[in-house]
This record gives sequence, C-alpha cells and structure tokens, in this order.
Amino acid sequence: MGKQKIAIIGAGLGGAVAGSLLQHSGFDVDVYEQAPTFSRLGAGIHMGPNVLKIFERIGVAEKIVSISSTPTFWLSRDGISGEYLSRIPLEGYGHTYCTVHRGDLQALQCDTLKDGTLHFGKKLATIEDTGIDVHMTFEDGTSASADIVIGADGINSKIRETLLGFEKPNYSGWVGHRALINAERLKKYDLEFEDCVKWWGPDRHMMVYFTTSRKDEYYYVTGVPHDAWEFETAFVDSSREEMHAAFPGYHPVIEALIDSTETVTKWPLFNRNPLPIWSQGRLVMLGDACHPMKPHMAQGAAMAIEDAAMLTRCLLETGISDYATAFKLYEVNRRDRATRVQVVSNANTFLLTQEDPSWVYGYDVYAEPLRTEDAA
Ligand code: FAD
Repeated sequence: MGKQKIAIIGAGLGGAVAGSLLQHSGFDVDVYEQAPTFSRLGAGIHMGPNVLKIFERIGVAEKIVSISSTPTFWLSRDGISGEYLSRIPLEGYGHTYCTVHRGDLQALQCDTLKDGTLHFGKKLATIEDTGIDVHMTFEDGTSASADIVIGADGINSKIRETLLGFEKPNYSGWVGHRALINAERLKKYDLEFEDCVKWWGPDRHMMVYFTTSRKDEYYYVTGVPHDAWEFETAFVDSSREEMHAAFPGYHPVIEALIDSTETVTKWPLFNRNPLPIWSQGRLVMLGDACHPMKPHMAQGAAMAIEDAAMLTRCLLETGISDYATAFKLYEVNRRDRATRVQVVSNANTFLLTQEDPSWVYGYDVYAEPLRTEDAA
C-alpha cells in the first residue's frame, strides 16, 4: 500500500504554509493552485510574532525578517489633527513584527515546498469524497486523488461550496484602496513617514507602512465606506482624484501619500457569517475558506497560517487514518480564537486606543495545550 496522501487546494498564504508544515512533519502532500504561475501582486501585509513563531518551523523566519520592515510601534493617529491616539509596542511577544510585500512573502513560503509538489494552473472543478478517498478534477482536464483534502482556497472556496452549497460572501459596505509608493517620491516633503501608522477618521482609515527592509517602498491600504460593489472583478482601478475625494481635508501626510500615488486599486471587503462546520468526511477547510473577515486587524492571513499549524499538529497526533478525530480536534482548538479575531477585525477597533495586544501577538500555537474535551 502506498503512503497516504494529502491534497491542498490553494497555494495562498495559508495553503502554502500548510503544505510546507505537513511536508516538514513527514506527510506526503501535493498543493494545487488555480493561478497559471506566481505573480507579485501589488500589496503589503503585516506578519505578527504569532506567525513568525510558525515560520521558524519551516525555516523561513530569519529570511522573512531580513526582507521585511520591522516596526517597533503600531501608531494610531487622528487622520485630521495628527494627534496620537495610541502607541502600541510591537516588541516583547516572543518574535519579530514584520511588514512586507505580500508577493515576496508568498514566494518565500512557496520555496519551502518540496520540488514538484506545487502544481500551478490547477483550478479545482469537482471534488468527490467517495468514502474511501477523494477524487478531484481540474479545469485543465486532469484529475488526482488523495486520502484527505484541505480547502485553503480562499473566500470563494469550492470546498466550502461542496460542503455547504453555493452562497455569495457578504459585501461589507466597505472597500480598501491599495497603493505601493516608491519612497524616493516622498523625500521632497518635509514630513515624517512613520514605519507603521494607522490614520483614523470618523468612518474611514488609512493604514501605512514600509514593505521592505530597505524602506524603499511605502504602502497604504484604506477602509472606506462604499454603498455597493457593482463590479464582477476582484478589484478595479482607482485614482488620485478618487483618493482625494475620499480623504478631504485630511492630514498633510495623507495628502502627500495621495499626491505621490502612481497607481491605486480598489478592492471590495467581503466577509461571511461563522460557518456551521469546518470539515465533513475527508474534507477540511482553513483560513478565508472558513472564516473570512474584514482585514482591519491585519490578522486574516495570520489566522490561516495558525490554522495550518494547528491542523498539522492534530494530524500528527492522530495520523491520517483517524482524520475524523484530527479534524474535530482542529476545529475545537481553532474556532474560538478565529471567531474572536473575526469579530474584532470586523468591528475595526483594534489598537485605536492604548490596549494590550498580547492575546493576538503573544499567542504561540505550539505552546497551547491541546483541548480534547469537546472533540470526542
Ligand atoms: P487566499 O490567500 O485567498 O488564498 C486562496 C488561494 O486559493 C489563492 O491562491 C487562489 O488562487 C486559490 N484558489 C481559489 N480557488 C481555487 C480553486 N478552485 N482551485 C485551485 N486554487 C484555488 N491578513 C493579514 O494577516 N495581514 C494583513 O496585513 C492583511 N491585509 C489585508 C488587506 C486587504 C485589503 C485584504 C482584502 C486582506 C488582508 N488580509 C491580511 C487578509 C488576508 O489577505 C487573507 O485573510 C488571507 O489571504 C487568507 O489566506 P488564505 O490562504 O485562506 O486564502
């Protein structure tokens, strides 16, 4: 009998790490990604100490720190007056706080997968749990089987749809504008461009940080109310004019960032209500497939990566043959935390005032005692 196989659908921020952690633990894993190839999407991302602890396990923590900006404070400022609303220390949680280019991060994550196990151009078309194994077909006409399948396929997950039926995600009524700015363009201003700062207005905000260790690339992402998302695409182009209209009379730093913007895109922010199940039979989900959220805590990908680590831990505990127990253990040990983060992130209040973020950043998925009581 051959070795039992795990298939992962999606090589996003959660799927790639899940594949790597499972391979490092001795499992036989293939990852199937719909994108034809890897692309460096124009966006930044925060990776907190809770995630860096997990990156240690796949040998990339040091590399990620070396390419990232490592702010020592998260600053919250009034978007108009500039007054400081909070200064949250980002050190002292057991690892480094990084802000980095999303594409650079994903490239490093994918590099940790064994050669030949990441398959691009594989858009999952159908999936059938036969009771003995799982059969998958892809839109390119190929097929594959595995003993268990992890759906790390994001907010529009095919695995979620298979288990729970088709349902569009909820449009939150907000959009996020994203722009990367060449830091050279900011040198002409007599203004301070801080490492990691969230500018808060009464109903909107702009989060700003560097995405490289050289600090040559500055990034902003907004949250702005927007009645309806009328487009079919994942994002649309925005403009300096639209940004000025969205932030009228805001602080000179914000004005300068908008004036320095070359290209800016606009993304709808979607979420879902908590799902009734995270797994069924041989299929299990992680990350945005099972608990998408508005991104205002900068912890959505972090939750996907923590899920990946806990799922690996549970599978190591039980072995693949007892996947049913592993999946229950996984959900019992992840649901409360992921739901809490989802609620706080959707509320968009995190770090607005001086608070202790240890419950988020100090968390170590490997140090948590495994709760077994509700998994029986
Ligand atoms: P994804 O990263 O969405 O990956 C899903 C993958 O599955 C994709 O590669 C997709 O191509 C693939 N896929 C989908 N369907 C199929 C299919 N049928 N077959 C094969 N492959 C498929 N989180 C943070 O932690 N920090 C931040 O700073 C942060 N900032 C954010 C800013 C914005 C504006 C937004 C919108 C989100 C932000 N997030 C942040 C949240 C974060 O992006 C998501 O939570 C995270 O990407 C979820 O990871 P995932 O692996 O579950 O899904």
